[in-house]
Amino acid sequence: MALDTENQFPRVVAFAGGVGGAKVAHGLAQILPPDHLTVIVNVGDDFVHHGLRISPDLDTVMYTLGGIANPQTGWGIQGDTLQNFEMLERYGVAPWFRLGDRDLATHLIRTQVLASGQTLTEATQKLSSGLGIQHTILPATDDPFTTIINTKEHGTLDFQEYFVKFRWQPTVVGISYKGEGEARATESALTAIAAADLLVICPSNPLLSVEPILRLGGMREAIQKCNVPCIAISPLIAGQAVKGPAAKLFAELNLDASVVGIARYYDELIDGLVMDIADQNAVAELRNVAPALSLYVTQTLMETIEDRARLAGEILRWQMEGISL
Ligand code: GDP
Repeated sequence: MALDTENQFPRVVAFAGGVGGAKVAHGLAQILPPDHLTVIVNVGDDFVHHGLRISPDLDTVMYTLGGIANPQTGWGIQGDTLQNFEMLERYGVAPWFRLGDRDLATHLIRTQVLASGQTLTEATQKLSSGLGIQHTILPATDDPFTTIINTKEHGTLDFQEYFVKFRWQPTVVGISYKGEGEARATESALTAIAAADLLVICPSNPLLSVEPILRLGGMREAIQKCNVPCIAISPLIAGQAVKGPAAKLFAELNLDASVVGIARYYDELIDGLVMDIADQNAVAELRNVAPALSLYVTQTLMETIEDRARLAGEILRWQMEGISL
């Protein structure tokens, strides 16, 4: 791998959704200098609530890299309160989506910046620098782009209705993306990809977090064109998601809910796959399914902040030193 000769770190672009993505992004941020890491974040879950623009995945990545994320949930702000919510309840507002009091400030600023005619990229830059984040966090697009979930029980649902209101319990029969065909990846994202030494698809939900990034105009082509290794970390461990609906969705959409299914899903996009030790016995099958794929087996479950840096360090070493199975 070509490296920045000055300090021997690769320039990494990571593709992330919320909690799973933020953990690996944080691991990489603990190792890489600020100008060597760009995190490109899903905005398919974004929505407007009480007139405020909410970007759940951007917020999770920002709060995690800014060191203020709630360690219990992985999202929201540590120690946040819900007084605004209690007041909203007094006004009789249906309580299905809660915003913390501190969290609210993020949405106020984002909404204000967007209303002034600036882009989501600019709003994210302002918020990130306010949180003291030195690495670059970019929305995948500045254009309208929304994930829509088609369910058996309730028909078409907006993403947050499916995910928060119905707690991802409805049976999913299809996923579509409003804005597909028009929404483009940002120039900043495409430029970062073109300058990267390594692309990392974080262990985010492939269908709900990564696919909405890949569907943007110019994104898939930029990844395929840039001629540097692209690796993915499996979000499934022993056929189970660490959190959320990834395994359930794979099964509902007739995909194989296993590390082999993840390899198949990313198929031509990836050169390497990081898989959990719990899936060691899938190595032989992976060799058949994807003979060209290089594999790295380790503990991918990140329970602590140290786990994130350990996993990120292993991945960088694997890629820089070329040690593979
Ligand atoms: P969301 O937008 O908050 O749902 O976040 P993501 O899409 O980024 O992350 C959800 C995915 O992260 C799920 O499929 C989880 O299985 C995966 N995930 C979360 N924590 C871990 C972890 O510690 N290790 C691995 N391998 N996957 C994880």
